[in-house]
Amino acid sequence: MTSTARRKGQGQRTVSGRVCYTGPMKILSVEFVKSVSSLAQLPREQRAEIAVVGRSNVGKSSLINCLLRRRGLARVSATPGRTQYLNYFLVNQDFYLVDLPGYGYARAPESIRQAWGPLVEGYLSARRELRAVIVLLDARQGATERDQLMARLLGELAIEWIPVLTKIDKLRRNARDVQIRSVAQALDVSDARAIIPFSARSEEGRDRVLAAVADYTHRRSHPRDSALTRTSGPARLGSAMKGRL
Ligand code: GDP
Repeated sequence: MTSTARRKGQGQRTVSGRVCYTGPMKILSVEFVKSVSSLAQLPREQRAEIAVVGRSNVGKSSLINCLLRRRGLARVSATPGRTQYLNYFLVNQDFYLVDLPGYGYARAPESIRQAWGPLVEGYLSARRELRAVIVLLDARQGATERDQLMARLLGELAIEWIPVLTKIDKLRRNARDVQIRSVAQALDVSDARAIIPFSARSEEGRDRVLAAVADYTHRRSHPRDSALTRTSGPARLGSAMKGRL
């Protein structure tokens, strides 16, 4: 630690105004910043961003509330019409957690689904501050076709991603091991250990997800390449995704 370093809390310090993580990440502050409905509204500061994505009802709000330890921050089971935005949360005055719209919500009006496509795809394709995407999969349902498309799109865009199996408390030990292997295979994840079992109920997996977030937000460079989560896919999958999110 340098003489200018100031203790921020367990495992954290500030060096030249930048938070560094020397152990498990502690959530010191969380601020809802804004909801974005077009790419022109994205924040202008160059802070690291970690996005969270998954099908509607996968447990995204519950995971965000659990990670950030703020009840009701991301509204659990928010009404479909109000979930089409990119919601920005500033964490520890350091990085943004970006809540992306849920995809594949059967009851969402067609116009909303159509609007999600270009916004989410434009964000994923062009956002330089994006360091990694947390991809949520429901432990009981495994990887759906849309989840596979999302994983392949991220692979094609060379975006790092963190696969998380939500509601893991609903599976017995044997079933969860089988499901983890099956999801790894469906998403072309070469090492099943990269998949994080998570429960917002028991908080299992919270530390692992936060450790991954800390790792990605504080890498000096983000080479958009990962041995564990690299996927193969047709070269033009991005255009195949249009309108399908
Ligand atoms: P979202 O639509 O993806 O934001 O999903 P929500 O966070 O609203 O969760 C959808 C439903 O799944 C709610 O009824 C939650 O209570 C439930 N749920 C979310 N996470 C968990 C979990 O870890 N364990 C269990 N058993 N239920 C969960």
